[in-house]
Amino acid sequence: MSEDAPELLNFIDGDFHPSACDHWLDDHAPATGRLIARIPCSDSTDIDAAVAAANSALPEWAALTHEERAVWLDRIADALEERAEDIAELESLDTGKPISLARDVDAKRSVSNFRFFAEQVREFTAETFEMRNATNHVVYKPGGVAALITPWNLPLYLLSWKVAPAIGMGNTVVCKPSELTPLTANLLAEVIAETGLPDGVFNLVHGTGEHAGAPLVAHDDVRLISFTGGTATGATVGASAAAGFKKLSLELGGKNSTIVFADADMESTIPGVVRAGFLNQGQVCLCGSRILVERSIYDDFREQFLNAVENMAVGDPSDPDTELGALISPEHRDKVAGYIELAQEEGGTVVCGGGAPEGIPEEFADGNWLAPTVIDGLSTDSRCSTEEIFGPIVTLHPFDTEQEAIDIANGTRYGLAGSVWTSDLDKGQRVAEGIDTGMVWVNCWLHRDLRVPFGGVKDSGVGREGGRWSLGFFSEAMNVCVKHD
Ligand code: NAD
Repeated sequence: MSEDAPELLNFIDGDFHPSACDHWLDDHAPATGRLIARIPCSDSTDIDAAVAAANSALPEWAALTHEERAVWLDRIADALEERAEDIAELESLDTGKPISLARDVDAKRSVSNFRFFAEQVREFTAETFEMRNATNHVVYKPGGVAALITPWNLPLYLLSWKVAPAIGMGNTVVCKPSELTPLTANLLAEVIAETGLPDGVFNLVHGTGEHAGAPLVAHDDVRLISFTGGTATGATVGASAAAGFKKLSLELGGKNSTIVFADADMESTIPGVVRAGFLNQGQVCLCGSRILVERSIYDDFREQFLNAVENMAVGDPSDPDTELGALISPEHRDKVAGYIELAQEEGGTVVCGGGAPEGIPEEFADGNWLAPTVIDGLSTDSRCSTEEIFGPIVTLHPFDTEQEAIDIANGTRYGLAGSVWTSDLDKGQRVAEGIDTGMVWVNCWLHRDLRVPFGGVKDSGVGREGGRWSLGFFSEAMNVCVKHD
C-alpha cells in the first residue's frame, strides 16, 4: 500500500473542504491493487452544506443569459483541454482501462461535452405558438438545484455530460461521482476552481451511495435528479425521488444484442462486433454482449470472431498498444467470473478465455484480471444470455429468420441499445425498428452524435439525454399566453 496516497476533498461553495465526519474511503488502482487515493466518506452534513451552497448560488446564476453561461462552458472546456493528458492518465489509473481508450474517448469526450453544450445553449430558441388572437410564448426556466450521480465506467465522460447542460440551462449542481473512481471528478473541481466559476454553481461531494447519494436524492431542496448507474440502484433512487415529485432521469443497465446477418461485410463486421463486445473490458452499458448470428454463416463467423478475440492485447493499461485492461474491483471481477461458472451449469461451453489472461507481468499480480471470454451453446433465455454481466464475456447464438433475431433481442428485461450488421440497409432499418430499445446502430456501434436522443426503455431507464433532450430535462417549460386583438 502506498503511504503517500493523496487525500481528495469535497468541493463546496467554491472551495475544497474535508468531510464533516472524519471517515475515509480507500481508492485502489484496478490493474495493480495499489492504494492511489483516499476520499471522504461524506454524509448528510456534507450534502446539506453542498445543497445550501447550490441553493444560494441559484438566483444569480439563473439570471444570467444563455450566452453568458455558454461562455463559462467554453472556459471550462478550454481549461479541461489543457489537462487532457492528465485526464487520460488519471482515468486509466483509476479505472484500469487502456490509456489509448482514455485518451481517445474519456479525455476527448469530456472536453467536447462542454463545447457541445456551450453551442447548444447558445443556439437554444424557445417556441412560440400563434393563435388567431393570442401568442403563446414558451419560457424555459432553470429547474433548481440538480443532483448528478454517476458510475465508475466512464467517470468524467458521464459527469461532464450532465454538468454541462445542467449549469448551461441555469441550474446549480451537487455531483456525487462513483466512490470507486473519484480522481477525474476531483480534477474537474480543480479546473472549475481555476476558471473562477461563481461559488456554489458546481459542488462535488465524494462518498458512497448509501451515505452521500441517498441523502442527496432525498434532500428537500434538490429539484432534479440525473442518475446513471445500475438498474437496482435506479429503482431505489426513483422511489426516493417520487416521494418529493422530483424531476428524474434514469440511465440504467443494458443487455444488448448484436445481430449479424449472412450478407454482412465480414471484414468490417468482425472488428466492429469485437469492439462492441469488449470495449472498456465489456464495461459499457451499450456493449453488445449477446451476439446473434444467422445460422448459414455461424461456424465461419465463430472461427473468425474467436481468432480476433484471442489476438486482443490484454495487460498493462499504460501501454499504448493495450486493448483490454483490468476490471474495476475484485468484487466486480468475482461477480463477472461467477457468470462463467453459471454458463457451464446452464449448458454453455467456454470457447475462449474463461480465466485470468496469460502473461500478465508480476507487478499486476494483485489486479482484477479476466481474459476476454466467449461462450457458445447457451439457450437465449438462459441467465447468462439475458442478465447484465458488465464484463468481458459474450455469448453466441444462431438464428434463422429476421423475426427470430428480433424476438431474441427483445427477450430481456433491458432495452438500452443494439446493433445490426447487414449489407441490406432496408433490412437493417427494419430490424432496428423492431427492437425495443432506445438506440440501435446499423453497421457500426457507439458511433455517437451528441445531438441525438440517448437512453433506454424497460429496465434500462426513464428519459433521454443528449442535445435538446438534455436541455429540456434541465429546465422547466412554462407557457405565457398573451392575448392581442
Ligand atoms: P451503481 O448503481 O452501483 O452506482 C452508480 C452511482 O450511484 C454511484 O455513484 C453510487 O455511489 C451511487 N449510489 C449507489 N446507491 C445509491 C443510492 N441508494 N442513492 C443514490 N446514489 C446511489 O452503478 P455502478 O456499478 O457504479 O455502474 C455500473 C452500472 O451503470 C451498470 O449497470 C451500467 O449498465 C450502468 N450504466 C448505465 C449507463 C447508461 O447510460 N444507461 C452508462 C454507464 C453505466
